[in-house]
Order: sequence, then structure tokens, then C-alpha cells
Amino acid sequence: MESADSLEAVRIKYLGRKGLMAALMARLPGLPKEEKPVVGKEINLLKARIQKAIAEKKEGQSSGPAREKGRADVTMPGTWPEEGRAHPITKTLNEINDIFISLGFSVAEGPEIESEFYNFEALNIPLEHPSRDAFDTFYLKDDVLLRSHTSTVQIRIMEKQKPPIQAIMPGRVYRPDAVDASHSFMFHQVEGLMVDKNIRFSDLKGLLSLFTKRMFGENTKTKFRPSFFPFTEPSAEVDISCIICAGRGCRVCSHTGWLEILGAGMVNPRVFEAVGYSPRKYTGLAFGMGVERIAMLKYGISDIRLFFENDIRFLKQF
Ligand SMILES: [Zn+2]
Repeated sequence: MESADSLEAVRIKYLGRKGLMAALMARLPGLPKEEKPVVGKEINLLKARIQKAIAEKKEGQSSGPAREKGRADVTMPGTWPEEGRAHPITKTLNEINDIFISLGFSVAEGPEIESEFYNFEALNIPLEHPSRDAFDTFYLKDDVLLRSHTSTVQIRIMEKQKPPIQAIMPGRVYRPDAVDASHSFMFHQVEGLMVDKNIRFSDLKGLLSLFTKRMFGENTKTKFRPSFFPFTEPSAEVDISCIICAGRGCRVCSHTGWLEILGAGMVNPRVFEAVGYSPRKYTGLAFGMGVERIAMLKYGISDIRLFFENDIRFLKQF
């Protein structure tokens, strides 16, 4: 059984600078001219064999005592390959996308750096709206900014395409919020848009009720509360019955039994005008949700910062 030290002694004896192989090489110049290349080649071959033998012994040593005896110890724990997995946000995003894809929606993406036109004007958000304040949006320069919602992609689709449209737009959005347990300056949204003749509010209700049942379970109830968004009219906040307490009331739902999950509404005719659709001919529904919020509810995560800290102990749990 060779220890690392005795193996090193063997290496020095044969391959070292003053070793046996070096001594052989030193005798080469004294040989007759025609023998030199033949003997030189033999010495090099021998050297390679010694190197190989030493390397093999070394490998045997590093794999534990059983290997040195020339057989494998089958009771020893194996070497586990490092296993990767999808980030909880990616998983949630894929789950949301899959539900809408199965309902006939296509997936559209757009740039994260946008102009004021796509982020505000085309969406009927006037100059005096608070979200256009420099403190509420990351302005890069003049009218260039980091998009604050993925609604920008709705405009880009409608500019390029005539109805019918049935698409979802997942992606990252940016808002200069102070970071705390429920706020991040960057988060993910999925928005949806359906435009055609005769799209009605009942379509919106049916679609979102179906989505929440598939996402959170068959017994999930949905509630639509009147709300306001510049780009939809009428607008609604959509709540689901609390998935933690099943509507009985708990800390997560602030004892109301309901959780706010997304915003929705019928596309404002002004948005259609901005992209050159006739509001007399077409109607549309739109909705948007925060992926982090949905992932937090679904997995019972209490702090949004955990998603972005890259702590393997957290990420391993999903
Ligand atoms: Zn609850």
C-alpha cells in the first residue's frame, strides 16, 4: 500500500531532475550517431509508462482506502451529482403561462427599456398621473425609462397585429420602491390581453375564475371589486378566497378571508384609438398580476427579498 509520500519518493527516484531517467538521458550524447534516435525514443516511452503508472496509483489513493486494496467498497456513500432546479419565480411563471397557453393564449415579450409613449401615453396615463413622477418610475434619460408594467407589450402587439388577439406578456418590471418584506425595485408581472368583436365583461370573469381555480385549486372562489386603472374601463381588483384559511380569516388575509391577486378590466377605448383600432368595432379584456405575490401565497413565503438573495438553502426547497 503506497502512501502519498512513498509515491512521491518513487517519482523523484525515476523522474526527478537527478533521477534515473535523467541519468539515462545524460548518456545519450556518448552514443553512436545512428543509435541516438532509437535509444532516445525508448527512454521517452519508458518515461511515459512510469508517469502513467504513478498517475494511476495516485488516483487509487484519492478514492479512499477500499480502492487501494483494489476493490470498491459498495457500502460507501456515492458522490451525488450537483442537481439544479428551477427558481420558484420561474416555476410559478411557467405554471401561469401553461394555464393560459392551454386556453389558447400565445406568449409575447417586449423590451424592458421603454419610451414614455409605450409606458404611459398609449395606455391613457396622462402627464399629471402620479406614476409619471420621477420618484415613481426609473427614468434613464429624457423620455426613456425602465418599464413599470408589462402593459407596454400590449401596445406593441396591437400596433403590429389586427384583432383577434389573445396573448399573455410575462416579464420583469421596475419601480423605485424602498425594498422591504413585500416590496422590491424589480419584480415580475404577467399581463393578458384579448381583443375581438364582442368580448364581454362576462368573458373576463369566466376566464379569471377558471385561471384562479387551476392555479390555486378547484375550491377557490373569486370576487371582483370595482377599481380604477387608466387603461381599462370598467376596472376591477380580483380577490380569491384565502388559500391559507379557506376564507375563515387568518393573519395572511388580514382576517378578511380574501386575498387580492390581480387587476383587470375592459380595454379603455382610448387605448384602441392610440393603436389605430376602431373602438366601435372591437372590445377587449386585459388583466395583470404580480408573479412574486402569487409565488409567496402559493408557497407560503413571507419575504419577497428571499427570491433574490440566491441563498441555496432557500432555493433548494422548491
Ligand atoms: Zn386567510
